[in-house]
Amino acid sequence: MKFGFDIDDTLINLREHAFHLYNKKLNKELGMDVFHTLSSVEIHAPFGLTNEQGSQMWKDCMEEIYFTDCPAYADAIDTLNGLVEEGHEVFYITSRPKHHCQQTLDWVKAQGFPVKDENFFCGMADHEKIQIIQSLELDYYVDDKPAVLETLAELGTKVIVKNQSYNQQMNLPRLVDWCDFKNLL
Ligand SMILES: [Mg+2]
Repeated sequence: MKFGFDIDDTLINLREHAFHLYNKKLNKELGMDVFHTLSSVEIHAPFGLTNEQGSQMWKDCMEEIYFTDCPAYADAIDTLNGLVEEGHEVFYITSRPKHHCQQTLDWVKAQGFPVKDENFFCGMADHEKIQIIQSLELDYYVDDKPAVLETLAELGTKVIVKNQSYNQQMNLPRLVDWCDFKNLL
């Protein structure tokens, strides 16, 4: 089978990693309870930043957020390697900015995820992911972001939502822990 995965906040714990960085940079000590009740993908509001300031902060910190020591979710790397060992194909579809794509590919490989260069898609807008998912004829696709998931309703591909505080309204098979992935298939 063909399995497609978003990367940020689906396979790796990017927002929480960024939240810790924001605490450090802004000299704050916001707790994980605040993080876990965020109703938006964006994390800047509890730091008292406006949308504009938040978007600038994300841009300014982007390299550090992406390419330092952001952890993968527990069991995500093993789960994807297991799929490849069983003969399945694994694809990555991330809307990270184009100028970060090569470094992202290298970083994802270095973490131990199984990556074939030709199966790595990067730099599209959220609403363009559907075209790639469709043309690859994926059997399954996993993402966390409502703006992406909402575009995928009509697909033949089975869509799974990676559980996050901001996607509770999505009525889809829900992945909480990567060790349970196989139970959703
Ligand atoms: Mg994501």
